[in-house]
Amino acid sequence: MNQLEEFKALGLSEDILTAISKKGFETPSAIQSLTIPHLLNTDKDIIAQAQTGTGKTAAFGLPIIQLLTSKKAIPQALVLVPTRELALQVTQELQSFNSNGLSIAPIYGGASIEEQLRRLKKGIDIVVGTPGRILDHIRRRTLDLSGISYLVLDEADEMLNMGFIEDIEDIMREMPSSKRVLLFSATMPERIASLAKNYMNEPDILKVESKNITADLTNQIYFEVREGDKFDALTRIIDVEPEFYGIVFSRTKVGVDDIVNRLIDRGYAAEGLHGDISQAQREKILGKFKKKHTNILIATDVAARGIDINNLTHVINYSLPQDSESYVHRIGRTGRAGNQGTAITFISPSEMRQFGFLKRNIKADIKLEKLPTPADVIAMKRNRIKEDLYAIIESENYSDCQSMAAELLESYPPEVALSALLRLAFKDELSENSYPEIRSINVDRKGKARIFIAVGHRDGYDPRKLVKLLKRECGLSDHNIDDIKVADEFSFATVPFEQANKVVKALNMLSNGRPIAEIAKDKSAESGNGKSRGKKSDTDRKPVRKARQNEEWFDFEKPARKKKSVTDTGKPGKRADKAKAKPKKATTKVSRREKKEKTKRK
Ligand code: ADP
Ligand code: MG
Repeated sequence: MNQLEEFKALGLSEDILTAISKKGFETPSAIQSLTIPHLLNTDKDIIAQAQTGTGKTAAFGLPIIQLLTSKKAIPQALVLVPTRELALQVTQELQSFNSNGLSIAPIYGGASIEEQLRRLKKGIDIVVGTPGRILDHIRRRTLDLSGISYLVLDEADEMLNMGFIEDIEDIMREMPSSKRVLLFSATMPERIASLAKNYMNEPDILKVESKNITADLTNQIYFEVREGDKFDALTRIIDVEPEFYGIVFSRTKVGVDDIVNRLIDRGYAAEGLHGDISQAQREKILGKFKKKHTNILIATDVAARGIDINNLTHVINYSLPQDSESYVHRIGRTGRAGNQGTAITFISPSEMRQFGFLKRNIKADIKLEKLPTPADVIAMKRNRIKEDLYAIIESENYSDCQSMAAELLESYPPEVALSALLRLAFKDELSENSYPEIRSINVDRKGKARIFIAVGHRDGYDPRKLVKLLKRECGLSDHNIDDIKVADEFSFATVPFEQANKVVKALNMLSNGRPIAEIAKDKSAESGNGKSRGKKSDTDRKPVRKARQNEEWFDFEKPARKKKSVTDTGKPGKRADKAKAKPKKATTKVSRREKKEKTKRK
């Protein structure tokens, strides 16, 4: 099965397709399907509107990269974005598609101007910048925009909110009138129309309507859970269910493989489906799943298309679907044909905002619930064992074990013999300690601040080094540092709210007054209910939103396992070792039966 068929049909080249496949994308989002062919096949200006998190960067990035040939002279494309975080994020996203050897660089306030001058001198094909700093360079005559053929106004609504309109107008005057203007926005305030009238050339409007779809066949719930805890949350849900039979959705094939591997490591009967899997293999996997030889299927949206299985107990959104339509498609696989089903969505802090959009769009009642505790899970397992025992006793199917039982009872008191036998059969499956702690987001979200730091892998940082830096320079201790994420050019860390300002200050002192840190997100923004959107006054609201998007980018790129070691304990590897040391678990009917048989044989 050629998974990238749909991308290919949009007119993208083989090179670009390779880059897309590396990223793990499988199917274009709605806005991508609209803009990519338009950009490749016409030369008209566009206004593109689609909600946050629907892949607008790739919607303009992929065709522009395909259309340009690297000259490494003066810039050929300029992408204007409202914040420096977004400048970095968009640059990274574009670089990940850069199959054409283009030189792509961010230019934003706060970063060293000398470094930017050096980059500019070397020649940049695509500049991603904030209006203020771009204007600085224009005034210093260090940026020549006379060769621009594409101008992208990304997050146009935000740029207008932040009062960049005049800067944008000034910048536009520096460009040839032949350039194409591509405006991307999540909303379409009035002022965009006037911008379009004055500065664009009869733009085509490409809009993705968010549909109101109700899906009420299924019990819909969600759990707030840190990205790094999602896997443990998943195992609890599977274990607490007497007959779990479900599909777990991940947005990328990288994600699918990661979850499958970790489940198999722990002894679950799981298999994965994504676009890289051959048709023959796919049929085999589906066959096994239909017969319930495997009871857990991990899949991408594309791979799950057309699967006709009616009696699932669960659909789990391990990562948020791309849009409300995929959500409805996904959960439509349970609660079919009169069967009761549950749709569960995991929401990490960085997904809350997008989840807010989603909830409003589908207008369904998705309820927040608490994860089953280890005690719940163990109680459930005990009951199950008792039921199974009862069934064997009822059937009187144990005569071949009786002589051994008698032998054991001669040597040990009954309780001791039975306990040891349970240990043998179930290892530490019945111990609460075999379930790693999952910290509640609600509790420790209070009083925490997220810090954006403009250093990353490129500057030689990894999570461990960043923790060291924070401890050394900001006087923080391990337990005060949380949720570290390091990307190529930037990082995030969570610190106690009352220390946040001090931390930012200390970091910014390090770089000779060149700001490298800022508070990225606050509590109100985490509610994800979109209430804060109406207010325009606070300027630091914007970084909040971008930070969130940065992190979403992360979640798709990095398998959760990698991030975890430091995220959770500050001590890399601790948890991973524990997981490895753990004996295999068998949760499916099949494997439990096998175990019982083993026990019998002995
Ligand atoms: P927007 O600008 O619309 O808010 P972004 O361009 O920031 O959205 O994309 C959000 C996330 O979705 C990014 O992590 C991006 O890599 C990912 N993404 C974009 N397109 C796809 C796709 N077709 N399939 C899977 N993930 C995608
Ligand atoms: Mg965007």
